[in-house]
Amino acid sequence: MLQDRANTLAPSASQPIEEFLNQRILSGEWPTGFKLPSEDSLRKQFGASRTLVREAIRRLQGRGLIKTVNGSGSYVAGGELQHVSMALNAYSVLAADHRTFADLLELRMAIEGDAAAKAAADREGRGWRLLEAKLQVMSAARIIEEFAILDIDFHMELLRTSGNELFASLGAALRDRYVRFAIDSYRSSEHLRNETMIEHRVIVDSIKSGRPEVAREAARSHVSRSRGRWEELHCLATTSAAGDANKPAEGGAGKDDSNKLRTHQPHGRRALQSNQRKGAS
Ligand SMILES: [Zn+2]
Repeated sequence: MLQDRANTLAPSASQPIEEFLNQRILSGEWPTGFKLPSEDSLRKQFGASRTLVREAIRRLQGRGLIKTVNGSGSYVAGGELQHVSMALNAYSVLAADHRTFADLLELRMAIEGDAAAKAAADREGRGWRLLEAKLQVMSAARIIEEFAILDIDFHMELLRTSGNELFASLGAALRDRYVRFAIDSYRSSEHLRNETMIEHRVIVDSIKSGRPEVAREAARSHVSRSRGRWEELHCLATTSAAGDANKPAEGGAGKDDSNKLRTHQPHGRRALQSNQRKGAS
């Protein structure tokens, strides 16, 4: 009972302890591997209950700042990509409003464009071979759900070929959300599979032929078209259909992208109509 009440109050009641620990860790005063004061010591220092001390520690664990070894104590953690990935995964799945998803697509445009450019610039790289293999598997896929998953796998491979672990980690974090989106998209448009194969082919060929800027634009345009479909599917395309108000503002789709977006709008409208008939969101 007491614990339940403490948990309910925890976000504010444990905050001074959390802030104290947080400040020492993020200032670098307590480096990676530093052993935190014991629970008893913190409890006395703050005149707080054991529950509140544990709540503060639990919250710092959740943020990846500390790790606790049973029977030994809590230590300042090393930076781990896993924590970035977990946080972004949760955000992408839980923050399901349309604008957030459009923002996440914009993030994908940026990192996938860069990943493609890096892969194309790496003359020793074998990235294109791995992507080519993914394309072959995609072309053999028989059912929509399988194709959608393979589509996203292609993008995961593209991010891995960049050699930037953070890119790959961000991509992996967004995977679950995008698989769902891809399945919805392929169910809504019979033309989409062909378009995807053509666009993926351009990405692979530009990497293979060592043309970084072409590869970057190919990857960005491909994701940009996904964004256009998303906006149309969710009735957010009013402004972008009339003009370009809804297209990515800074570092977003260039002139080329907006033209391609418009080219693909008829498919998007059919998808929207199809979705409305089916009552899908
Ligand atoms: Zn794709």
